[in-house]
Amino acid sequence: MTGQLYCPRCGFTVQPTPVPAPCPRCRVPLTYRRDLPRDLEQGDLAGRGVWRYAPFLPPVEPVTLGEGGTPLIPSLRIGPNLGITLWFKLEGGNPSGSFKDRGAAVLVAVLRSFGIQTVADDSSGNAGSALAAYAARAGLPAKLFVPAYASEKKLAQIRAYGAELVLVPGPRERAADAVRAACADDPALAYASHNESPYFLEGLATLAYELFEGLDGEVPDHVVAPVGGGGLFLGLGYGFARLRALGWLARAPRVHAAQAEACAPIARAAAQGLDEPALAGSKDTVAEGIRIPRPPRGREVLGLLHALGGAAVTVPEEEILATRAELAEREGIYVEPTSAVAVAALRALVARGTIRPGEEVVVPLTGSGLKVGADAATG
Ligand SMILES: [Zn+2]
Repeated sequence: MTGQLYCPRCGFTVQPTPVPAPCPRCRVPLTYRRDLPRDLEQGDLAGRGVWRYAPFLPPVEPVTLGEGGTPLIPSLRIGPNLGITLWFKLEGGNPSGSFKDRGAAVLVAVLRSFGIQTVADDSSGNAGSALAAYAARAGLPAKLFVPAYASEKKLAQIRAYGAELVLVPGPRERAADAVRAACADDPALAYASHNESPYFLEGLATLAYELFEGLDGEVPDHVVAPVGGGGLFLGLGYGFARLRALGWLARAPRVHAAQAEACAPIARAAAQGLDEPALAGSKDTVAEGIRIPRPPRGREVLGLLHALGGAAVTVPEEEILATRAELAEREGIYVEPTSAVAVAALRALVARGTIRPGEEVVVPLTGSGLKVGADAATG
């Protein structure tokens, strides 16, 4: 496969491999880039959804379930009440119900192009479902390592796609250790890590391209994204940077990071002026999708947050659920709690004057409420 993997920190480069090792100097995950066609124009983009942006993506045969191309709709009440123009990008309409399908489609396509036989990951949530769906679509077996305590309800979707579930006793980190060990032992098994793979990130960057096209070649003043592993945030940042490099975009929006107060390694580090995620004291949160106490790309997220002029905001548990209810009752949009974190953070950003009256803001609503049901508070 053409293109290059590079270290976002020191610039180390290496040829693409299916499961890239971290930078040998900095120990951080690598990122992918390719040369863009010299005279690429918007008119050259064809089709709809993630693979419309094939010129930006690793050059591989697509695996697709119709991911991406999600609706961008105006907020009718929450935005106007705050005195801003607010758009929602409805990612819950993706094939497995979340934005992770963008990353999984590209990652599975890349792994297939390398001749990988079985894909493995450690996620019992949206990423696990997305990977299982695209592996099924590609005709590849998938093996998901999940904490033994994960609820059957959460695992049902992964199981339905025919993926093999490996229950790992102990805390969440044990599942990550177990998948690494299994992949080290079995050369046919590829660690398709949604938090570390550069190819997954490339798929998520399509959200930036879609926002650019969805708003007729303009971008909003601000984007507010929920941040756990930081894939969505990085994908947006790198996607906008690429559009700028092409000369399609005069300025990138400010991209802000929203975290649950109970698990906020990025926001806490930003508040303390640290360039590494603050690791201590992460508690449980209803926003399961962003419960990542040790984000492997955390340092990269903090660097990009600074470069994009973004702020990091934390949201208390009760506001997450209240905002989730408000989105359903006042806007007609049923989301998973993680999506509500970004809308609650938006309100805080308006209150503190970071987002000013009359400005234009986009919030990606990352996943469908049907994923978790109405009893998120107790489940
Ligand atoms: Zn490096």
